[in-house]
Amino acid sequence: MGRGSEPGPVQIVTVSKEDHSFSLDTEALERVLLAPEVRDKHVVVLSVAGAFRKGKSFILDFMLRYMYRKSESNWLGAEDEPLTGFSWRGGSEPETTGIQLWSEVFLVEKRDGTEVAVVLMDTQGAFDTQSTVKDCATIFALSTMTSSMQVHSSRPCLLLQTHRLLFTEYGRLAMDEIFLKPFQSLMFLIRDWSFPYEYSYGFKGGSDFLDKRLQVKEAQHEELQSVREHIHSCFTSISCFLLPHPGLKVATSPSFRGQLSDVAPEFKEGLLTLIPTLFKPDNLAEKEINGNKVTCRGLLEYFKAYIKIYQG
Ligand code: GDP
Ligand code: MG
Repeated sequence: MGRGSEPGPVQIVTVSKEDHSFSLDTEALERVLLAPEVRDKHVVVLSVAGAFRKGKSFILDFMLRYMYRKSESNWLGAEDEPLTGFSWRGGSEPETTGIQLWSEVFLVEKRDGTEVAVVLMDTQGAFDTQSTVKDCATIFALSTMTSSMQVHSSRPCLLLQTHRLLFTEYGRLAMDEIFLKPFQSLMFLIRDWSFPYEYSYGFKGGSDFLDKRLQVKEAQHEELQSVREHIHSCFTSISCFLLPHPGLKVATSPSFRGQLSDVAPEFKEGLLTLIPTLFKPDNLAEKEINGNKVTCRGLLEYFKAYIKIYQG
């Protein structure tokens, strides 16, 4: 982070394109987590994971805006303001596969007066060839293990498929070995929701939609059933939010720079509900491992241990 320098994204985990090996940039991670003001605070890690090129970094940048400007009434920003933060862009070229953290850790006061340290995490990967599917699964598992609030961004049809693919095969293996207690919070953020008459946008529609999808039925495919049960047994709290499509300019225009004037009004309304709720002090879930709250300093050690699992 470096005193005086601008905050920005920090690549902490990189997957090599050649041999698919994982590396952790320990020094970069130390700069983020061992900053004197935050290192001894309990940590809340919010990660956004899931489908490639569906606006993970885009929504994280609005979360950053909120963290920086939540005291202002118009935190969402001016109509013509370009969106900055984690890099996001159109096109199909993937960026470096891996995990990035925002260099600045945010201190938030909880209701009881204690301060928690909020870390924002972005994940990248592409689903093209067989080997990158495995890389993505590993990134997904790592982000699950190191976060306390996972936002799983996907399209409705992929909700359980991606979990089956990414979660059971790789995530579960490592989790069964390490954890006695479940994870904290999982939110399914459904993008491009286009059936508001069936299930309304937001948390209520999301909750009804999720209940329907997670209902375990007798006749169901056994594998799918076990994914559902597994999700329930892993997370203390599960929620779902239905977010509408951001509009064609966001999805297709090469000159789009994130300005709100080109974002669909219902998408903006979605952000205005979703983001303040996620970051409401009472809703911030501190990272727990084996039932104990973890500090930023402690998280650094867990990162080092987890990466070893995937270095074989
Ligand atoms: P990431 O790979 O998931 O981080 O995706 P990015 O945040 O880089 O966004 C990829 C592209 O999707 C950009 O062109 C965004 O403008 C666009 N985008 C952002 N949010 C959404 C969304 O909710 N739906 C759709 N269809 N596109 C989006
Ligand atoms: Mg991205």
